[in-house]
Amino acid sequence: MKAHDGMYIDGEWRPAAGTDAIAVVNPADEQVIAHVPAGTADDVDAAVRAARGALPAWAATPPAERAARITALRDVLVARKDEIAETVTAELGSPLKLSQAVHVGAPIAVAGSYAELAASYAFEEKVGNSTVHLEPVGVVGAITPWNYPLHQIVAKVAPALAAGCTVVLKPAEDTPLTAQLFAEAVHEAGVPAGVFNLVTGLGPVAGQALAGHDGVDLVSFTGSTAVGRQIGATAGAAVKRVALELGGKSANVILPSADLAKAVNVGVANVMSNSGQTCSAWTRMLVHDSQYDEAVALAAEAAAKYGERIGPVVNAKQQQRVRSYIEKGVAEGARLVAGGPEAPRDQGYFVSPTVFADVTPEMTIAQEEIFGPVLSILRYEDESDALRIANGTVYGLAGAVWAGEATEAVAFARRLDTGQVDINGGRFNPLAPFGGYKQSGVGRELGSHGLSEYLQTKSLQF
Ligand code: NAP
Ligand code: MG
Repeated sequence: MKAHDGMYIDGEWRPAAGTDAIAVVNPADEQVIAHVPAGTADDVDAAVRAARGALPAWAATPPAERAARITALRDVLVARKDEIAETVTAELGSPLKLSQAVHVGAPIAVAGSYAELAASYAFEEKVGNSTVHLEPVGVVGAITPWNYPLHQIVAKVAPALAAGCTVVLKPAEDTPLTAQLFAEAVHEAGVPAGVFNLVTGLGPVAGQALAGHDGVDLVSFTGSTAVGRQIGATAGAAVKRVALELGGKSANVILPSADLAKAVNVGVANVMSNSGQTCSAWTRMLVHDSQYDEAVALAAEAAAKYGERIGPVVNAKQQQRVRSYIEKGVAEGARLVAGGPEAPRDQGYFVSPTVFADVTPEMTIAQEEIFGPVLSILRYEDESDALRIANGTVYGLAGAVWAGEATEAVAFARRLDTGQVDINGGRFNPLAPFGGYKQSGVGRELGSHGLSEYLQTKSLQF
């Protein structure tokens, strides 16, 4: 794999301030495929200065011109889609088909949506005797995880650019090559120097320096709750805006009137896709007592089919973490009906598609985010019981409800404490706001709601 040995700052690839490097590993075969520089506080500082320097001109650039640059960026991503898919597969391990359809397809759709929004959004509104201007918040520090390497970047950078903000990105250490390709695409799209900057590096070094930098006006973070809490506290102390997307433990509620086989099959696919490394995955399936045994049998059968198709998890640490959760599930009395803690292959960080039955709401595997291909099936007695279980975690990111009629599912969905619900298998919508209730986070991404996170208001009275 081709890798840059510098940082993308102020429109060019510059040598890193230090000499430390990060080895990029292919999780499917454990081979080192490239090295990228591990940035320090000095690299972050240079990038933030470049972003500050570029801010006034970019903020003053007419929205139609910002839209044209985002359109060009989308077009470069389209033109280079095969190369990007191969890179995601090499550093994340996802099967190539998944990389093409989801890891590249979704961010192209999101970039396209922000090209349109930048051109059509009302950056000025009248309220009585006032004119309200929606102005960019300023310099954005974006910190992204590895699970959807390009999507997580585009979901922050595209709306930031549309709003007129400038950006410093610190991508996950496991997937820096996709981030470097994105920087190349930004360059090729003719985005002015300094508007977008990339510093690869480790979270506690480069990430922390970015989150705490005085020159950053908004920190947008996606990742673990532990790091999110710390970033939120740092931002709060500095009276700085912050957006946090911290994962979930979403419920897939199958009401008795639903098409059970469809609901179970789609539910299993949702959890196993991307090896379970999806923050919005429906990792808890809730089934009525009368259909429980049938649902468990269907889920076990569906999961077994994923054995050959599923990719590895991202690294050895995540593999170990997921396997410990599976062991904990067994120890706490849940019943394994598919998969288990043993690694299915000698090489690569693979985890068997795993399904637990007889999971009770208080078990660790029903409460904590596992981030691996592990599904828990819980039993409910009636609707109020289902609602209590579905809402009974600290998270509230996503979910699903299935019923014979959409109206019945909608009535249930309205009582869920969660930011997004798919009704009878609804499709991904790149314009729908995405983000959490409760400890799943603060703020929303995607669509016009995602754009407004990067704007602040100025009211002029007449
Ligand atoms: P993480 O450490 O929170 O990583 C997210 C991003 O934050 C990465 O770019 C990371 O850099 C950076 N980071 C780490 N420590 C930081 C610090 N002190 N200050 C600033 N930035 C920092 O998450 P992880 O270790 O990759 O995954 C652990 C768990 O988090 C997963 O098992 C899963 O439960 C959850 N997770 C959630 C999502 C989501 O979409 N919400 C995504 C990924 C993971 P490094 O890459 O160098 O660590
Ligand atoms: Mg980490």
